[in-house]
Amino acid sequence: MIELTAITKSYKVGAETLDVLQDINLTINEGEFVAIMGPSGSGKSTLMNVIGCLDNPTSGMYLLDKEDISAYKDEELAKVRNLSIGFVFQQFQLLPRLTALKNVELPMIYAGVGKKEREERARQALEKVGLSERVNHLPNELSGGQKQRVAIARSIVNEPKLILADEPTGALDSKTSVSIMEQFTALNKEGTTVILVTHEQEVADYAKRIITVRDGFILSDEEQVR
Ligand code: ADP
Ligand code: MG
Repeated sequence: MIELTAITKSYKVGAETLDVLQDINLTINEGEFVAIMGPSGSGKSTLMNVIGCLDNPTSGMYLLDKEDISAYKDEELAKVRNLSIGFVFQQFQLLPRLTALKNVELPMIYAGVGKKEREERARQALEKVGLSERVNHLPNELSGGQKQRVAIARSIVNEPKLILADEPTGALDSKTSVSIMEQFTALNKEGTTVILVTHEQEVADYAKRIITVRDGFILSDEEQVR
């Protein structure tokens, strides 16, 4: 599904060049559940942004479903992003003035889905994450765990094959983290590929494969033994 070959990413900061991803070679197959770990600043989010087509690599090749997307224009990338990839972030990234339901409807607005179907699918997604009772609440009327579940509902509403979650439990207590990880586990069992970044071993332990990143390199890449 995902094939990264000799991917690098550099940023120019003043006169200096910062090599954030140095030489990433990585294959992730459909249906995998992968955790990416590593110290702060090691390039985890940059790698996720490249995988999620939010950012272009400086060099290297990226095949997504065998398509070379390095050559895609911004518009085409946005389409891939919206229709094939769900995103979940540490700080939830919900729009504060929209209800849970309207937040979940957003990716479908971009995908051109009609109003009635949007609402129906948004309700179903919220039901799936256990939030049927909270559809008309605003984000600030929800707990952290509930906000993250709204974000997960939003990420799955276009039925993406791939979900990318950058420190999805980073702002949550450990009990709430467990319930969020159970959601990702359930989605993965249904066949969705899940890639997440975490600092916490207990969170990474839900994944079937753990990749460790150091200074823009892959330090280790191991299947989890259970
Ligand atoms: P992590 O998610 O592992 O903490 P990041 O991928 O966010 O690491 O960042 C890796 C390095 O790249 C850091 O040193 C960070 O400061 C730098 N960096 C990230 N984004 C930019 C940017 N847009 N411009 C310059 N430097 C950046
Ligand atoms: Mg990060």
